[in-house]
Amino acid sequence: MMGISFVGLIIVAVVGLALIFGLVKGLSAMLGLFKSVQSGHATLACPKCGQQTSHANGRCDACGAEL
Ligand SMILES: [Zn+2]
Repeated sequence: MMGISFVGLIIVAVVGLALIFGLVKGLSAMLGLFKSVQSGHATLACPKCGQQTSHANGRCDACGAEL
């Protein structure tokens, strides 16, 4: 007699997938929050023109150079 039935395996798989899905969702939400907090405050000097710019979009606000 098997300890784990086929139905049991399916239930474990479904619960595991739901857990992984929830974990990924939570992680991405946390990362998004962290990113928005970061971009809300941090500025850095552009290496090309020296202007202070937010690095939220990855480009200098003044000259458009990649940061
Ligand atoms: Zn610049």
